Amino acid sequence: MAIEQVGVVGAGQMGNGIAHVLALAGYQVLMTDISQDAMDAAIALIGRNLDRQISRNLIAPEDKAAALARIVTTPKLTDLGQTDLIIEAATERETVKTAIFEDLVPHLKPETILTSNTSSISITRLASRTDRPEKFMGFHFMNPVPIMQLVELIRGIATDEPTFKACHGVVERLGKTSATAEDFPAFIVNRILVPMINEAVYALYEGVGSVASIDTSLRLGANHPMGPLELADFIGLDTCLAIMNVLHDGLADTKYRPCPLLTKYVEAGWLGRKTQRGFYDYRGEKPVPTR
Ligand code: NAD
Repeated sequence: MAIEQVGVVGAGQMGNGIAHVLALAGYQVLMTDISQDAMDAAIALIGRNLDRQISRNLIAPEDKAAALARIVTTPKLTDLGQTDLIIEAATERETVKTAIFEDLVPHLKPETILTSNTSSISITRLASRTDRPEKFMGFHFMNPVPIMQLVELIRGIATDEPTFKACHGVVERLGKTSATAEDFPAFIVNRILVPMINEAVYALYEGVGSVASIDTSLRLGANHPMGPLELADFIGLDTCLAIMNVLHDGLADTKYRPCPLLTKYVEAGWLGRKTQRGFYDYRGEKPVPTR
């Protein structure tokens, strides 16, 4: 089916980036959030991010106005019912997502495809709470959306081929690359990336190396653009811990046990960049390792 109008639920960090790339690719975007402030901030941020793309000659100046004109916000979730595709990017809590889909279902066109940008919640379980598990799948963008090339496409157990093909077509029109994942805890990127970060925290916990030596080792020894602890601070230590818990609970394998030191940082409220302190302290001019 042709997809022209896309509904985006949630105007946070991911929702604004998703609306940005969809609008630039020519889709009509209808975005909603429970917070009017979040929607206003999202539109302002999309404008600034488009300006940055203009200054880097990635897009033409006239593309900005055209993209912004394609994004409409509404406080009413049910307004999204008549779109062709819905990408849910609300808070990572299963009860929040389930309630959104339940509220949407009575207002949908029969052919509307439902997707979630969840990082960890089972696509199959979310789909089972709707009237259309075969038209439901995972549409997992990476952060920051306008910059990161990958989109993970996750099939639930019931996802049908036309739904998968339609979502694959959207990724292509965005000029991004998709990787297909089956619906198991944390999918592909986080299944591999987050245990590596957890292992780096174990190396720190066991005194194998300091924050600086662990990050330097992976940057210069494995050619990673960022060290694993620096990256953990960027992602958010609470998010890293939540993903380890999803892997540990969902796969029931002790190799995914979260490092006690990661738990301790989260309990301290040292969550990384967003709280100005994590494995590094960001309150001064330069980040300073905290161990
Ligand atoms: P965020 O906290 O920045 O934004 C979430 C937004 O959802 C908020 O603006 C909030 O007001 C809104 N919201 C909450 N309940 C709502 C409801 N009932 N209806 C409409 N809007 C509602 O979170 P985020 O980082 O943008 O994450 C959103 C989703 O994307 C999550 O599922 C997360 O797992 C996933 N994700 C995040 C990242 C990341 O790096 N942050 C990467 C990939 C995927």
